[in-house]
Amino acid sequence: MLKNKVAIITGGTRGIGFAIAQAFLKNGAKVAVLGSRKETVDNALSKLKSENSSWEVMGLYPDLTDYSAVEAAFKTISEKFGGIDILVNNAGISAREPIEAYEPDAFKKIMDLNVTAVFNGCKAAVPFMKEKGGSIINTSSMVAKFGQQSGVGYPASKFAVNGLTQSLARELGKYNIRVNAVAPGVTRTDMVASLPEEMVARVAAGIPLGRVGEPEEVANAFLFLASDMASYISGAILAVDGATVN
Ligand code: NAD
Repeated sequence: MLKNKVAIITGGTRGIGFAIAQAFLKNGAKVAVLGSRKETVDNALSKLKSENSSWEVMGLYPDLTDYSAVEAAFKTISEKFGGIDILVNNAGISAREPIEAYEPDAFKKIMDLNVTAVFNGCKAAVPFMKEKGGSIINTSSMVAKFGQQSGVGYPASKFAVNGLTQSLARELGKYNIRVNAVAPGVTRTDMVASLPEEMVARVAAGIPLGRVGEPEEVANAFLFLASDMASYISGAILAVDGATVN
């Protein structure tokens, strides 16, 4: 589905991002995995290489909140792989603090990674995609429908991701750059592993499909949106949440 395409995946070292990297590589893309540290990036690259040594994959760890660092990383990737066709802005952190315990610095930090880094990625990708089109996919969340009971920075950041997605879909359509988001429900990654098991079970019981999602199931939605199968889809926020209602 992605033969000869070059894809960048932020937060590609584990969880949903790592599953997206696997799906894209299996479907013929060359993939650049971006993470926060050299060790985690090296670890992800060696896992992918051991799965299939012929996969074309590279890794970098720019500070995603620093536009110049992102721009430089994209230039390096384009030089090595011959352009950029797909960008997945997936790196993100969550929050659960109630407002009275929520430090202003923590709110700024979540906005920097979950929102500003998405802006940085989109802005840095446009020059590479302008001539021949491209696909940008942002990782939103189901909380951008409902909000959540505490940790207001997280839903606020994901509502902003939806805003970036829908606005840039309108702005960049003229270049045939499609901009979409995937909004996962509760998905079995480290982000969820940090929650108490009974909380996960309670959540699963309230999901119409009766279970939490697997990273591979979420990755399939990214694969579809990245591919030419979705050539007339832009500005969509695709829920992958087992019909979670709240
Ligand atoms: P995870 O914690 O397993 O992975 C997060 C990824 O982001 C890692 O690759 C990590 O390296 C990267 N990252 C974290 N901080 C970073 C930083 N400062 N700079 C660069 N990279 C950084 O999380 P996940 O569950 O796979 O989440 C991936 C995305 O999916 C996030 O945007 C998250 O908000 C979203 N999401 C997750 C769930 C879920 O239930 N797991 C649900 C909805 C949305």
